[in-house]
Amino acid sequence: MTAAPAFIQVDVDGLWAVRRCYGRPVGGSFQDDPVWTDGIPEFRQLFSTVGIGASFFLVGRDLFHPAKRLEARRLVESGHEVANHSWSHRIGLTRFPLGRLQDEIGRTHDAFVRSGLPEPVGFRSPGYDIDARMIRVLTQSGYRYDASVVPTRLAPVLRIADAWLARRWDPEKRQFGRFAYGGAPRHPYVPNRWSLREAARTPGDEAGLVEIPVTTLPPLRFPLTASAVFAFGPAAVIEKLETLRGQPVLLLLHGIDLVDCSEPVVFDTRRPAAGGFNLPLVTKRDCLRAVVEYVAGNWKVVRARDWVESAY
Ligand SMILES: [Zn+2]
Repeated sequence: MTAAPAFIQVDVDGLWAVRRCYGRPVGGSFQDDPVWTDGIPEFRQLFSTVGIGASFFLVGRDLFHPAKRLEARRLVESGHEVANHSWSHRIGLTRFPLGRLQDEIGRTHDAFVRSGLPEPVGFRSPGYDIDARMIRVLTQSGYRYDASVVPTRLAPVLRIADAWLARRWDPEKRQFGRFAYGGAPRHPYVPNRWSLREAARTPGDEAGLVEIPVTTLPPLRFPLTASAVFAFGPAAVIEKLETLRGQPVLLLLHGIDLVDCSEPVVFDTRRPAAGGFNLPLVTKRDCLRAVVEYVAGNWKVVRARDWVESAY
């Protein structure tokens, strides 16, 4: 039996984007961004040690920064996929009119081309905020997959946890998708263009865009992110992953997950360890390496773009 596919993906939210997400002052973090100078090279090193190809989701405006552009090219040269993570990284894109959605995807796409990067075929919406309009824009733009759906009913709980971490409730901050997406399939599927539900495919249907959902861990359906690894520990996450053997999985990481946070980077005051916001690099690296190695040993790690090409 061939091993099921595993997608290991990194959202490259610069420090400026993370700070803005939590309502913190951005300061000089667009220019001087440890996510790009420290976090991404750390990920390249980790993935090269384990011998896998990953997918990195880049924010368009970061490509205007010459050193970030260079690092993005290095990712491609190292055998990784680069994909589209919107232009502005505004959390709550589904609030915007259609033209703005087209702009968020199109401007980033153009920035990839101008930066000498391969044209992206995959997208993840900031904050996993996706709707059927965006799926249609992606399909019309020739994209092959979206990876924004998190099939969990925990979205409202996760939003409250996020607001607690930020010490601020922002009703405009649409995060973690809709409660209804808790009923979405947990395996890759072709979404209906009007609802994000699985489309009834009839033989001969032209393959459209594929939704590759972020894996959620049984029994509560907590998203399989570094936050889960840092909060529950690698051994507990591996134990849960054991129950998913033979099924496709998507492990979602973020650039800041391999940035040293022994000194506060996002928040001025110390917060509990949620999201690894006050963990030293060595701890984070050991935790993530254990999980990445386990996945690489028990699944076939593939770049989503290659898998979509071969499977659909
Ligand atoms: Zn992001």
